[in-house]
Amino acid sequence: MNRLIDMGVLACRQKNSRGTFKPHLAVRFRSGEGKICTFSIDSTRVPKKQPQPDAYLVTHAHSDHNGKSAMLSDLSVCTDRTAVALEIRHDREFKGRTVDMCGSIEINGVDVRTYPTGHTAGAVAFYWENDVGTRIMVTGDVKDPSSLPKCDLLITEANYGDHGDPSCHFVDDIEGFRDAFWSAPQVAFGAYAFGKAQRAVELLREVGHDGPIAMEEKSLILSNRLLDEPGELIGLGEFDEEAVCIVPPWDLGKLPHSMSKYVMTGRQDYRYPSLQISDHLDANGLVDMVEKVDPEMTLVYHPGGDRPGKFASYLNSIGRGAVCLDDVDNVLSNEFL
Ligand SMILES: [Zn+2]
Repeated sequence: MNRLIDMGVLACRQKNSRGTFKPHLAVRFRSGEGKICTFSIDSTRVPKKQPQPDAYLVTHAHSDHNGKSAMLSDLSVCTDRTAVALEIRHDREFKGRTVDMCGSIEINGVDVRTYPTGHTAGAVAFYWENDVGTRIMVTGDVKDPSSLPKCDLLITEANYGDHGDPSCHFVDDIEGFRDAFWSAPQVAFGAYAFGKAQRAVELLREVGHDGPIAMEEKSLILSNRLLDEPGELIGLGEFDEEAVCIVPPWDLGKLPHSMSKYVMTGRQDYRYPSLQISDHLDANGLVDMVEKVDPEMTLVYHPGGDRPGKFASYLNSIGRGAVCLDDVDNVLSNEFL
């Protein structure tokens, strides 16, 4: 942690009213103008009566990144698409400010830039510099690191960061998806409404399906709003013989027996054959990302459990400085803010 201090960054955890740690973290630093700033990252809101951070950065709209809570603060910042996804998913108004996918936004005198991570529609990394020129980047979850710039402090994820676990090593089975699509006259794919369902639409168009795609209601609304060129998307009620279906995995059983059914997941515990299509980098992909952005230090903040620690240890073993959230022992209290 001392290396972070040397870089002009204090990583802090926050406590909730029950005295336990809130998910994720906040970082404190000085802006180029010398002002002390606090950015809360993928965290829930601090109660209104307490001092507030300068921003709640929301990397994307998956629930374990806490946009449902942060979206109710006018200090929240996310992309236009993440704001749309949060509003549809949670049926409440996004109260914060939005930024483009490859954009920049000024937060209390700090120029914060965004870079797509390819994880979900709207998902971005946030990047800024502090008073001593440390380049700080927070990625959230990452599928495609090709747009990410170099940085000095990388704050990132390790969903599949355990090198010793075979399930953390995979490649996307695009061929399998293509074969599944062509396997029968009527095919249905089980995919979560936000994230996977949009990926399924894109993949269907990639493998040559230009007819209608019938979708469960929330998946349909999200896909129409979040994708640039989704083609013809229809409700399950309008389903006809030429349509391919995309529904949440637990709704596959409600579709006709005659349909071929697949689940888009790395998990093997569904009744239907699974297609390995992930929204994440695998263990080697995460290391490649770190090599590419080449930070002096990496702080692994997500998800819960032991994978952040295991990934940080692995990075240490290949000579890269890294710590995880469990190593962060500063508690953000009123005196800090
Ligand atoms: Zn995610």
